[in-house]
Amino acid sequence: MKLPQLILSSRNRKKSGEIQDLLAPFEIQVRSVAEFPNCPEVVEDGDSFAANAALKATQIAKLLQQWVLAEDSGIKIDALGGRPGIHSARYSGEGATDERNNEKMLEELAGVPDDKRGAQYVCHVCLSDPNGQVRLAVEATCRGRITHQPRGSNGFGYDPYFLIPEHHRTFGELSPAVKQRLSHRARAFERFIPQLVSLFQAESS
Ligand code: IMP
Repeated sequence: MKLPQLILSSRNRKKSGEIQDLLAPFEIQVRSVAEFPNCPEVVEDGDSFAANAALKATQIAKLLQQWVLAEDSGIKIDALGGRPGIHSARYSGEGATDERNNEKMLEELAGVPDDKRGAQYVCHVCLSDPNGQVRLAVEATCRGRITHQPRGSNGFGYDPYFLIPEHHRTFGELSPAVKQRLSHRARAFERFIPQLVSLFQAESS
């Protein structure tokens, strides 16, 4: 039985790499939107992770007439009232980079003590069918604490500052295999994948 192919809507290579690794054990042919040069950037102007994930999945699905998986994620910092949240990728403004975003985060958290530096990563993953209908949606979180100094060079984005207290290490220090078990993305895909496989099996039978 041949399952439909799945297009990943993300152009973020680190994030797509993590998603491809999570999907690798399943017999689903995964391709990236980057392989379709005429596919435009989707404007992420939703007001939630769910809304932005749905925009990315449904717009690309209709355009390519394919099944599309989209993921919207970010970090919500307690002491900043949940910011940067859905604006995590562009937190430091025009031309944002991971380095500038982390600098801005440290500036905003200056003077905030350890016990008030709680944060959570959020991952919302959704699947659109080729007609642009959302068929599956799952959201998961991972709690941690923001360190004062960067630690480790694994992962991406805010990972060198995101401490998992139970492990006494940041996602920058933990191995990719451990992040792939604990992260917001891992937790979302743990629930999402069985639903995806059942749906694809039903679609192709
Ligand atoms: P998106 O591509 O619009 O969903 O933006 C996701 C942004 O959230 C990334 O650019 C990072 O800044 C942040 N982010 C999401 N997941 C992670 C992660 O696993 N580690 C570090 N930063 C993350």
